Amino acid sequence: MLELLKKTGALLEGHFLLSSGKHSSRYVQCARLFEDPRVGDVVGKLLADKLRKYEVDIVVGPAMGGVILAYVVARELGVHAMFAERENGKMSLRRGFQILPDQKVAVVEDVVTTGRSVKEVMELVKEMGAHVVCVGSVVDRSAGRVNFATPYEYLVQLDLPVYEPHECPLCAEALPIVKPGSRYLEKNT
Ligand SMILES: [Zn+2]
Repeated sequence: MLELLKKTGALLEGHFLLSSGKHSSRYVQCARLFEDPRVGDVVGKLLADKLRKYEVDIVVGPAMGGVILAYVVARELGVHAMFAERENGKMSLRRGFQILPDQKVAVVEDVVTTGRSVKEVMELVKEMGAHVVCVGSVVDRSAGRVNFATPYEYLVQLDLPVYEPHECPLCAEALPIVKPGSRYLEKNT
């Protein structure tokens, strides 16, 4: 998985200026994994293999990071895929998507950092009387800190060091800094 992240440009090594103003030696942009659908399909299959034992009825992902992932995982599992999105700041199921009471749901997200979006989707599923039986992600960058109170499966754990500019070792080495082109980089999911 690590090789796949590097090969697709989803994981870059260097000296990066994050949108928070902090610096990092690594940069992850999971959307790149799905740029080549053949790679995206492989990722979907790998995560589906880990989630199969939970026998879910539906795979739900928060937009944007969970949209394609939910689709490829659900296709592998032979179940339905949906995505949740924010409406006036609240995570909601729009577009006619419906989860029925007692259905078993997997919540998937590309990168889990704080787990905030996943937890909001879990709440949404509970409000509908259904059950979140597992959470899945491609990358866990929470360093084991996140607790979903349900089984959590991921494909790779990544430690992405983040430095205050004045204590950045890469600045100390005078390495040129790169500002990645997207705010997506530092989203707290
Ligand atoms: Zn720096």
